[in-house]
Amino acid sequence: MVSAMQTIFSFHKEGRNKYTVPQFGAKSYDPIPEHLCRGKLNLVDVSEVDVVRHYRKLSSLNFGVDNGMYPLGSCTMKYNPKVNDVVAGLPQLTRQHPATVEELSQGSLQIMYSLQEMLCAITGMKQFTLMPSAGAHGELTSVMIIKKYFETKGEKRNIILIPDSAHGTNPASVAMCGFTVKEIPSASNGDVDIHALRAAIDDNVAAMMLTSPNTLGLFDRNIMAIADIVHSKGALFYCDGANLNAIVGKVRPADLGFDIMHVNLHKTFSTPHGGGGPGSGPIGVVEKLTHFMPVPVIAKKDNQYYLDYDRPQSIGRVHSYYGNFLVMLRAYTYILMLGASGLKQVAEHAVVNANYLRVKLQKHFNLPYNRICMHEFVINDEGMPDGITTNEIARRLHDYGFHAPTVYFPLIVHGAMMIEPTETEHKDTLDAFVDTMIAIKNEAHTNPEILKAAPQTTPVRKVDAVLAARKPVLKWEE
Ligand SMILES: *Cc1c(COP(=O)(O)O)cnc(C)c1O
Repeated sequence: MVSAMQTIFSFHKEGRNKYTVPQFGAKSYDPIPEHLCRGKLNLVDVSEVDVVRHYRKLSSLNFGVDNGMYPLGSCTMKYNPKVNDVVAGLPQLTRQHPATVEELSQGSLQIMYSLQEMLCAITGMKQFTLMPSAGAHGELTSVMIIKKYFETKGEKRNIILIPDSAHGTNPASVAMCGFTVKEIPSASNGDVDIHALRAAIDDNVAAMMLTSPNTLGLFDRNIMAIADIVHSKGALFYCDGANLNAIVGKVRPADLGFDIMHVNLHKTFSTPHGGGGPGSGPIGVVEKLTHFMPVPVIAKKDNQYYLDYDRPQSIGRVHSYYGNFLVMLRAYTYILMLGASGLKQVAEHAVVNANYLRVKLQKHFNLPYNRICMHEFVINDEGMPDGITTNEIARRLHDYGFHAPTVYFPLIVHGAMMIEPTETEHKDTLDAFVDTMIAIKNEAHTNPEILKAAPQTTPVRKVDAVLAARKPVLKWEE
């Protein structure tokens, strides 16, 4: 078994990378003059077979959706159809340099233009841009637009309202644009506390950011009333669309009163996105915000696609070139493969699967907000024996071949485990997950040591998550 810590450098042996070049009898060129070369490159001498075996082994050390169920709440780790990768690997698309002139980029521009149109149809928004790299970048771009909107109107507003259940990227995006966050508490049923919202809204508020459905996996039953309250003082209503998977094809956020939103193509519309990338976080806006969209805008005139830079009120560029094209291709393929009725089924099956798990687990685990959920729900470690926390349960799941759910989020639930099965798991897998959760709970009572020592079957055992985040080792050094 290869050690997880072994790097390619440990296979180095002087002179091992011998290879033969066919002799064609052609005249050889002079080598590059010495003074133009760097000093000795720190490269390894390894054979081709060493390289293949090493990286093939490394690839099997990871856990992904292709290995087993990955119920990571909020992140929508769904199975990614392989046809997406086939399309995203077509040389006609991958070999095009982004600086190619518009006349020779009509195909790529057409794909981007139609993807934007499909996102408008799905969300009810007037215009989309595909430029932001991921959800958080979409939030940032949106808050910049919100800022510009009020500046243009000559209004000074400095507050953005965010519920206490929100993802950490929401307040971060707000702070980066110089706004102040005002937190809105959740009511005991998990919805926004409407009274607290009424008390907080005034004409200093630029916007409210709401995740819909929210990070407890609940669809806020007062959503239309919230939109009215936000709009009553001229503020904008922002939808964090990371959970669009639950309502895609069923509900259009614009119809709920949202003015601006981001979509995570790599969640709802599939793309492998473990380990922080790659992503794509398009944003959509209602009519009155379209002038502020980042440049260039992909436009169409006389059946020709072009890049429109003539947008005097635009917030400017937010990305080099036009965004993460290969993620767009995967989402485009996914949407076209499913069609309108298929997308609707995505939402329906995701919600049915989550509720199936919720009901099966509610007899065994504590559910702080136990009502019909959308595509995910939250349980916690309440009632576990002393010393057994969410972390131990999560680690033990890995021994059973499941990835852990999202843990300790949302912050308003102590010891939270946020479970999102997605639509791509069938009943047998869901049943196996339930059986495993119950088995782990029994172990917690009868054999707690096994939970504390977990995981034992993974290539890397307990990791120090704080150290890994604070002092990442990103390159090899002798
Ligand atoms: C994932 C997520 C984000 C951030 O999106 P990234 O694509 O990871 O940048 C924001 N809000 C919620 C609710 C999310 O789940």
